[in-house]
Amino acid sequence: MRMGLRDRRGSDVPAQIDVVPIPEGPKLAKVLSLGLGGIILGVATAFIPPHVPQLILLPSAGLFLAVQINGQKAKVGAIHGTCPKCQAAIDLPSEGKVWSKDSWIRCAGCQEPYRVELLSG
Ligand SMILES: [Zn+2]
Repeated sequence: MRMGLRDRRGSDVPAQIDVVPIPEGPKLAKVLSLGLGGIILGVATAFIPPHVPQLILLPSAGLFLAVQINGQKAKVGAIHGTCPKCQAAIDLPSEGKVWSKDSWIRCAGCQEPYRVELLSG
């Protein structure tokens, strides 16, 4: 699994990005427990009024979180590169943030935003 940087126009920006994979086993356990936990909680609280909101909200929240976590592929590690716009060094320490389709960083020199992309392979 590799990551790359792109500017706003979609051009490649040469950079070295550390990728921290998220292990599948613990992730699956979390996804299942959230999905099932929401349903079980929702059914359990159905005996406590008001019934309908809990019966819908808890399983929905559990499933929503489960889908979110299931979509997590990797964490973004340290990023090293050079800003193509102002030539400043991009040197970000790892923040341990989970990568998403909307992972952006900013050049410290010119505030130009760059998108962190997951590259195949
Ligand atoms: Zn810059």
